[in-house]
Amino acid sequence: TDHKPSNFLRQVIERDMAQGTYASRKWGGTPGDAPHHEAGQPDPAKIRTRFPPEPNGYLHIGHAKSIWLNFGLAKEYGGIGHLRFDDTNPEKEEQEYVDGIIDVVKWLGYDWDVNGTSHLYYASNYFDFMYEAAEALINAGLAYVDEQTPDEMRANRGDFTTPGTNSPFRDRSPAENLERFREMRDGKHADGAMVLRAKIDMASPNINLRDPAIYRIKHAEHHNTGNKWCIYPMYTYAHPIEDALENITHSICTLEFEDQRPFYDWLLERLAELKLLKHPLPKQYEFARLNLTYIVTSKRKLKQLVDEGHVSGWDDPRMPTLVGLRRRGYTPESLKLMAERSGVSKAGGWIDYSSLDIALRDDLEGKAPRAMAVLDPVKLKLTNWAEVFGSESHREACSAPAHPHVPELGVRQFSLGPEVWIERDDFAEVPPKGFFRLFPGNKVRLKYGYVVECTGAEKDASGHVTAVLAKLVPDTKSGTPGADAVKVKGTITWLGVHDAIAAEIRLYDRLFTEGQPDAGGRDFLSVLNPASKKVTQGFVEPSLLSADKDAKFQFERHGYFVCDQVDHAKGKPVLNRVTGLKDSWAK
Ligand code: ATP
Ligand code: MG
Ligand code: MG
Repeated sequence: TDHKPSNFLRQVIERDMAQGTYASRKWGGTPGDAPHHEAGQPDPAKIRTRFPPEPNGYLHIGHAKSIWLNFGLAKEYGGIGHLRFDDTNPEKEEQEYVDGIIDVVKWLGYDWDVNGTSHLYYASNYFDFMYEAAEALINAGLAYVDEQTPDEMRANRGDFTTPGTNSPFRDRSPAENLERFREMRDGKHADGAMVLRAKIDMASPNINLRDPAIYRIKHAEHHNTGNKWCIYPMYTYAHPIEDALENITHSICTLEFEDQRPFYDWLLERLAELKLLKHPLPKQYEFARLNLTYIVTSKRKLKQLVDEGHVSGWDDPRMPTLVGLRRRGYTPESLKLMAERSGVSKAGGWIDYSSLDIALRDDLEGKAPRAMAVLDPVKLKLTNWAEVFGSESHREACSAPAHPHVPELGVRQFSLGPEVWIERDDFAEVPPKGFFRLFPGNKVRLKYGYVVECTGAEKDASGHVTAVLAKLVPDTKSGTPGADAVKVKGTITWLGVHDAIAAEIRLYDRLFTEGQPDAGGRDFLSVLNPASKKVTQGFVEPSLLSADKDAKFQFERHGYFVCDQVDHAKGKPVLNRVTGLKDSWAK
């Protein structure tokens, strides 16, 4: 079995399982939950976690870490991971994003259908419960309607050094508060006229406990509940309730929610006292968010890249969105590997982008078929071909394993003829020091083929090389007896002009030239990498003729490539470079 390094979340879960913290949980009749009819029955899941995206944009690589953590831990410990759309905010959410999120979470390999029960939830299905809970808090003297203006509320909140000041509306009776709250619900007041606040402590050193707002007026239609509501719960109020109703045990979130934890606990404890929820209650745990260099993840900035045409769309292969990374050719395994290696801790930090490429190579090295490709082609003419083989039309069949260590992947077939494509920079008229490839008088091996000896080059009027010339050395074919009799220092990749397939190859690089593009308030657009995309017309091996969209290859000497999800077609290949064979990026 895999050795999983421990981290504080695994330790917490293992401790809770050993102590039986959640063993006595029973279904409470969760609204909208599939096991609703099993109210009162023991919860069969050992632990429950949730990934709770707001459906207001495309997910990015940071979310992949949260998805990996929540679904990964649930799976590892015999629990259930919930996918929950946190759709409590009426204005910003769209079906397009809901569908997109479902699609990429599945692509990452996670599933919320466990033993035939779907664990896909919408926070908006809990609005009725949230409302009832708010009335219960009012009746218990734990919440009040505040009619101060937003400015007054802000001013009276105080700050880190000054305690807040009680609102003049704080001591209204529960009956009066209930009446006002119902007026809010019934649409009698305008947006912003008043809010419902929890009554905790205006002098708390934690500003989040200074009577936080829990309901606000918003005359807006909601994609799920339509016009039923004109008041909506605040995130800090809704989230703990969502967790509790779904029997979540470990509510894992990023560190910016740490200061909210005391309110999370306060609210759930009060609702348990009011018999609206049952112990054991969920607990919140925070970890440091993933920060990867050379990308931006702010939704606003990603949108700006798309809207201003700096990239071709949300799924541009240079985007850090999961749809972009998928199109670029990063695999689910590589993202999970990167997430695992980035660690789970409370200490934030930056992870170098190269860790993603390293993870991709580690994933694909053992499984991607090999192939030859020529990205910057120049013709090599073998001038003694007819002399050696008897005719210009003769073809020498060549083959190579699709993978050096995975025989199941089969054998690639291609052939050598009198003209082959080679990389332009595999020829030098005057070789620089240490150059072992083609230059007049030097011998190299055409990989899986023959040794050839360079005799010169053809040039146009401006001195530009139009073809390289060489003679084939007979009896040197790879895999035949005596093939190594002629020693060479260089081996180059090539493709027969007669059987190479023309391909559009997109060479991608980092989108920004600076590791922290938006550091220190810098305009991130000022450090866009002008060379982040180069398109070349090259050639690939005939083994790619039947390749489908999303097929991945290691092109020998060049790196990992994927058939583009949108533009690739069988027989008309369009490939994206995922990453090179090693990290060549100058620091
Ligand atoms: P916004 O606040 O702009 O809506 P968000 O990134 O918080 O964006 P959510 O949909 O709320 O988006 O995020 C869903 C989950 O993903 C949250 O639990 C959040 O903590 C987690 N998450 C977001 N960004 C990262 C990150 N960089 N690393 C780890 N987890 C993240
Ligand atoms: Mg958010
Ligand atoms: Mg956020």
